[in-house]
Amino acid sequence: MADLRELYQETILDHNKRPRNFHEIPNADATAVGHNPLCGDRVTVYLRLADDRIADVAFVGQGCAISKASSSLMTDAVKGKSRAQAHELFEKFHRMVTGRPGDPVDTQSLGKLAVLSGVSEFPVRVKCASLPWHTLEAALESKKEIVSLE
Ligand code: ZN
Repeated sequence: MADLRELYQETILDHNKRPRNFHEIPNADATAVGHNPLCGDRVTVYLRLADDRIADVAFVGQGCAISKASSSLMTDAVKGKSRAQAHELFEKFHRMVTGRPGDPVDTQSLGKLAVLSGVSEFPVRVKCASLPWHTLEAALESKKEIVSLE
């Protein structure tokens, strides 16, 4: 599995260096701010909604490589999805990063998000990886307060 690991590592580094959808959305339909004080990660998620779908999603923020790569991968993964689909993806993602290392990963439905499966070996990093997802959920629920993972 060494090759797969390397590929995963490369993808994470690439998304950290050149994050996708890394910008604000002016007049966004929904937005939320997430903060992970444990690591210092901060992320703001912007959504443009069309009926029940996420027509566009973007983020800005700063943090460690994992949080940035996870935000970037998340925006790619949920764009065009319905709220329910995005929520389902979050649950699968959460199960993956909080699972036991070596647990089978549902790569079929997780797609590129599977590159973050290695995070389950580093409990401290789980919050970094899930921060953008919690922030997305808050934006979808139109919560105004800042999400803080403490
Ligand atoms: Zn972090």
